Amino acid sequence: MAESFQKPRAGDRALSVEEAQELVLAEVGLLGVEEVALAAAHGRVLREDVAAPFDVPERDNSAMDGYAVRAADVPGALRVIEDVPAGRLATRRVEAGTAIRIMTGALLPEGADAIAQVEITDGGSDVVTVHQPLAVGTSVRRRGEDMRAGSIVMRSGTPIGAAELGVLAGVQKIHVVVARRPTVAILSTGDELVDLHDERTPGKVVNSNAYALAALVRETGGEPRLLGIVPDEREATIHAIESALACDFAISSGGVSVGAFDFVKDALDALGADTKFWRVAMKPGKPVVLSRVRERLYFGLPGNPVSSMVSFLLFVAPSLRKAMGRVDGVLPPTVLTRLTMPLKSSGDRRTYLRVRVSASEGELAATPMRAQGSGVSTSMIGANGLAILEAGVTSAAAGDRVPTVLFSTVC
Ligand code: AMP
Ligand code: MG
Repeated sequence: MAESFQKPRAGDRALSVEEAQELVLAEVGLLGVEEVALAAAHGRVLREDVAAPFDVPERDNSAMDGYAVRAADVPGALRVIEDVPAGRLATRRVEAGTAIRIMTGALLPEGADAIAQVEITDGGSDVVTVHQPLAVGTSVRRRGEDMRAGSIVMRSGTPIGAAELGVLAGVQKIHVVVARRPTVAILSTGDELVDLHDERTPGKVVNSNAYALAALVRETGGEPRLLGIVPDEREATIHAIESALACDFAISSGGVSVGAFDFVKDALDALGADTKFWRVAMKPGKPVVLSRVRERLYFGLPGNPVSSMVSFLLFVAPSLRKAMGRVDGVLPPTVLTRLTMPLKSSGDRRTYLRVRVSASEGELAATPMRAQGSGVSTSMIGANGLAILEAGVTSAAAGDRVPTVLFSTVC
């Protein structure tokens, strides 16, 4: 038996999560762009500053169904001289003692300076009585109050959701410049692995990581490329890493620990990689490698299903966001949550515990998942947060407030 356990490398201090995140983000460059049709821009990151080509609204218009009047004429009875639905223009001018019946969105007729909403009138069609006084400008939407011609309404780096898509449509942006989706190679290292359709003989484990990681890549806006299972052999690992470098980013799971058959670090060395770190002071996920290999970033994630997902969320997802040009929200947010049940940790390093964060009595409550072992993949089901217990802290009680990393929506 030639292989032996790996010796720690001299000077390799385990970094704090923050130090590691800083190193990772410092290595990430900006990806290129592509132009897509408006509807396809949903979920992408905007990569141009968008200016409004015209005022929105383009003219003063009515914010209410009611009557266009001169504020000085009300309260009082007015002769109704015309009826203007939205999209039509008044042909007449509002003169003293007259009103034009008007619907929401119709342009303010000449001469009028306020809208009397129907609720403060008697609703008359030939003569209308307005019961209350009105200030000039009441219920009038001013030209350009939403967007001014020539002003930037959306900055490069904005993630495009429903509201952003609506605004882009509102300025007739037919084509949108967005970040290219980063391609992410996913390797699964391990002699014990079999794939979805393979036979499970004793000792074999299904390659579940690849599928979970691919889903995380997609959720983050990238395009996963599943490159399959890599046996625990030095040459095979070198070849697999080389083929992964065709993508914008490469990630692997497993093979980064101190086991006798953990070849990822060796293979990276053989490829002349510049390894920035290989240990982070966290649990789960202590062995995690960041290397620069031939202009690509390579993340060697740990093999345990939970560890690989947690290290993806803390290191890979922010990298993909930064590469796409996101300005805010690159790192997952940390909030204080109140524990509904106690938590335990060994206290030897910072521990991230899976929790379900929900809104409860006006604050965020965190309910820990039943099991917290890093091999218990089902403990990630329904989790949307990672409660943090710092090194030296071995427990937190129900009712305690703890910092919690949020990695998906709270509901
Ligand atoms: P390693 O980091 O290679 O020592 O693997 C740690 C643990 O994670 C072992 O129990 C592996 O069987 C398991 N593991 C490694 N890769 C995968 C994978 N792709 N899918 C599911 N479990 C895995
Ligand atoms: Mg392994």
